[in-house]
Amino acid sequence: MAKRALAAVLQEIRPPEERPLRLEEMEIPPLEEGAILARVVMAGVCGTDVHILHGHVPIRLPTILGHENVARVEAIGGDRPVLDITGREVRVGDLITWLPKSCMRCYNCTILGDPAKCEHRIGYGGWLPADRHPYLVGGFAEYVWLLPGSDVVILPSGISPEAVVLGDALRIMVHGLERIGGLDYGDVVVIQGCGPVGIMGLLLARDAGASRVIVIGAPASRLALARAFGADETIDITQVPVQERIQRVLELTDGRGADVVLECAGVPAAVAEGLEMVRINGRYLIAGHYGDAGKVPLNPHVINKKQITITGVWSATNRHFLRALTLLRKVHVDPLITHRFTLKEVNEALIAAERQEALKVVIEP
Ligand SMILES: [Zn+2]
Ligand SMILES: [Zn+2]
Repeated sequence: MAKRALAAVLQEIRPPEERPLRLEEMEIPPLEEGAILARVVMAGVCGTDVHILHGHVPIRLPTILGHENVARVEAIGGDRPVLDITGREVRVGDLITWLPKSCMRCYNCTILGDPAKCEHRIGYGGWLPADRHPYLVGGFAEYVWLLPGSDVVILPSGISPEAVVLGDALRIMVHGLERIGGLDYGDVVVIQGCGPVGIMGLLLARDAGASRVIVIGAPASRLALARAFGADETIDITQVPVQERIQRVLELTDGRGADVVLECAGVPAAVAEGLEMVRINGRYLIAGHYGDAGKVPLNPHVINKKQITITGVWSATNRHFLRALTLLRKVHVDPLITHRFTLKEVNEALIAAERQEALKVVIEP
């Protein structure tokens, strides 16, 4: 078993351009019963990581970011079998990912039955400190040390590491669509935002039989990817002002508005805009606000008059991730990975992710 590992440690919150991540060589703690040491194959850079570096998402410092990971099992502690979340035995050499662990004992887990809102969620890649055992707690590193009882998934064959990395965004949209009661065949869907979450919403809408999908966002390179992945129309927010965007959606929907609007932008003003695009009795999903981006004036009359159902979604559970894998088996999503970096270039990776010319950035240690 390897003895030492390079890891990109975040000591203090500073924006990507200040290159806040520092490579440190860390000792790999010996494995205890049920723990797993895995060598990172690929770690996705998430919009959440960028929000973290701007102080918009609370985390525990110092830490190692990277919560969208694929790794190969190098060693397993003890000799009792370790099972993944589907009950398969994890073996050395398996390609795995792992998900945030919900306690299944708190009020939100038990009474509400909603492990996505667990009060004691254990999340690798920002929510476990790196100055305490087991130290290697995030994917921006050569190795990760997974605590006994972690929610590991052995990756089924036929799924690329790239697809698994995108599964982080996809599982949120699987969860979101579940919360709004799914899409109806033939729905017109508007998606606000063309980052990974928006594009995953697009893939799901297409798969669910949407008659038309309109994607609103920027920059042009991301909108081009949206068209390549099935968007019928795209509207560039840097070229078309708000009122014209609303007008355009109404024109494309016989003046009625869309059946469903999915907010995947994380920009407060998008919510006020998006509600104007929903039809009578339509549905509006807020999925993009993982970081607290602030307030926005809203006209409640719009919601009232059109009887709009507004739903929020927060993260996802293991079930949503496993369901996301079924779509990732069908659609070849690898072209959505636009930028690749080594671990030594980790700060450059975060800068690229922030600039948004990239759709999805990954680190391959
Ligand atoms: Zn993420
Ligand atoms: Zn819980």
